Amino acid sequence: MHMKKKPSLKTDDQSKFLDELAGLWPVAKGSLAEVRKPCGRKNCVPCLEGRKHPAFIFTFRRSGKTLCRHVPRDLVPRLRQAIANGRRMEEALVRAGEGVILLNRLDKENRTRGA
Ligand SMILES: [Zn+2]
Repeated sequence: MHMKKKPSLKTDDQSKFLDELAGLWPVAKGSLAEVRKPCGRKNCVPCLEGRKHPAFIFTFRRSGKTLCRHVPRDLVPRLRQAIANGRRMEEALVRAGEGVILLNRLDKENRTRGA
């Protein structure tokens, strides 16, 4: 029934993985939040009224430390895309890890069948 030799899973999965990653740029890992900050100018109406000024902050972790960076408004769409791409990249990594286990199991099954 299963006499047909399976294509090399390893090669197929690796090229699929790399193809998927190749389309994922820019990438980032972290979160983007809109906050309200005072500008420090005297007699600024939005600040006096408590509305302050909208600003975007990118929060990420490096070596166990949580870091923040100000994000210029015109960079927000690109950074959002980078974070979404980063999530897809992490999902691809998770699938690849499961694939390592699955491949090993299939290899063993093939060997015991004498393939
Ligand atoms: Zn202000």
